[in-house]
Amino acid sequence: MTSTLDTTRPEVTLRIGAEKRRAGSGGTFQHIDPCTGAPDAELPLAGPAEVDDAVKTAHDAFKSWRRTNPTERRRVLMRLADLIEQHTDEFIRYGTFDNGTPVGLVGGLVAMSVEWTRYYAGWADKITSEVSGTFGTTGEFSYTLSQPYGVIGVIITWNGPLISLAMKVPAALAAGNTVVVKPSELTPFSAMLFADLAAEAGIPDGVINIVPGSGEAGAALVAHPLVKKVTFTGGPDTARKILAACAEHIKPSVMELGGKSGNIIFADADLDLACSVGTLMSVGMMSGQGCALPTRMIVARPIYDEVLSRVSAIAPVIKVGDPFEPDTIGGPLVNEAALARVLGMIQRAHTDGARLVTGGQRLGGDLANGYFLQPTVFADVDPYCELAQKEVFGPVLAITPFDTEEQAIEIANCTPYGLSGYVFTNDLKRAHRVAEQMETGEVLINGAAPLTVHRPFGGFGISGMGKEGGREGLTEFLRTKSVSIG
Ligand code: NDP
Repeated sequence: MTSTLDTTRPEVTLRIGAEKRRAGSGGTFQHIDPCTGAPDAELPLAGPAEVDDAVKTAHDAFKSWRRTNPTERRRVLMRLADLIEQHTDEFIRYGTFDNGTPVGLVGGLVAMSVEWTRYYAGWADKITSEVSGTFGTTGEFSYTLSQPYGVIGVIITWNGPLISLAMKVPAALAAGNTVVVKPSELTPFSAMLFADLAAEAGIPDGVINIVPGSGEAGAALVAHPLVKKVTFTGGPDTARKILAACAEHIKPSVMELGGKSGNIIFADADLDLACSVGTLMSVGMMSGQGCALPTRMIVARPIYDEVLSRVSAIAPVIKVGDPFEPDTIGGPLVNEAALARVLGMIQRAHTDGARLVTGGQRLGGDLANGYFLQPTVFADVDPYCELAQKEVFGPVLAITPFDTEEQAIEIANCTPYGLSGYVFTNDLKRAHRVAEQMETGEVLINGAAPLTVHRPFGGFGISGMGKEGGREGLTEFLRTKSVSIG
């Protein structure tokens, strides 16, 4: 690994109001560097007691934050965006320490996080309501108020520690809420710098509280009576537990869950574009550990062999390894358990009759102690086998042929997920026709970029409910009250 690198990890503490606590009742967690398999930090974990303190602190802070002039909320959130931008290099280092994501990609995610923060800062003083006019014999006058909920419980996963914060916290704050965030203990470092910069930006103590912790801390946060809404990014299994707890407390939630996104490549597509985007985004960037990646390639029969030959030429030359080298595209999987899970799925894909085109092995040599996997491509994948139906969250692409447009749409829609859909075609009418029929929260045509802040993002089916991004991402954090004067 690169030798001149500053390897100092930031100290991880629980951030409750102005306090930085070095211990929590959840015990400690040994963070493992996924590139080497060696421990690199020990962090304190919040338990239910610290979650309770954090929620009460956020509840107290809400009283004044909700009354803060919206232009002031905009100003401090804009300042936070500027500070994130100014600390790009530090965020890149910490993001790579968090989970081994290569620096090139983390840099892009930091830039995206700046945009998400700026965008929602801009909304802070543009929240308006409706007047429904005067009517009836008494001349009743009615209007609505868009009001914050109070304390929002924010639970995020490990694959994009900064962007996950930026997709939730600025919108919640712009709307006048305060937050208690539980990041994954697997990726605690980026959240520390985010908290420091929020304070430097002038966001008052207690408005953002961060409690790294395990699932137990997450469960305590969801169940806390002062938490008025939950926003969650993670997998469907945890989502079911959170939804059950929310049902118990009749609490609303936003669920950003996994995906198994189909990428339909029609015979008239630009194959240079379709094959490079389709391969890099499925088995290259994030090593497949992204919710919205195009992990199923659904290819028109006349170009099937051509696409297979292009994909099998691109995948093996994707550079996997030291995430601090600027040309590395694929880093390690997040931990040993993830590696074992993905290798198990590869094994079962063979058994299910899929044909391995390239990859399939853990990397050895200098990388043998880390959790690195070759970019892996299977062809002739039965659309109903495990590999095509279950999220892998690793660098494994499943390719399946189709004969008709109708069949392509059927295959794309045949999983219980519905996060993103991808289409490559040069036929504009077909692009719109297919987009309309895909049962996904978004459709990206001919390489359109994912996670653009002005568009609502969020899935259908077991990919979740609710939106992040755009005006809808803001309104998730507002509730409507009607006022009527007789
Ligand atoms: P998990 O669902 O296992 O965990 C997500 C978060 O929930 C973690 O912080 C976890 O804590 C916490 N948690 C665990 N149990 C509970 C509980 N009972 N109550 C409250 N919180 C709890 O997801 P993974 O970490 O495995 O992440 C991978 C999943 O996330 C994939 O399915 C992926 O697709 C999805 N994802 C979705 C995105 C989207 O925007 N749609 C974006 C990124 C990922 P701990 O880590 O301590 O267990």
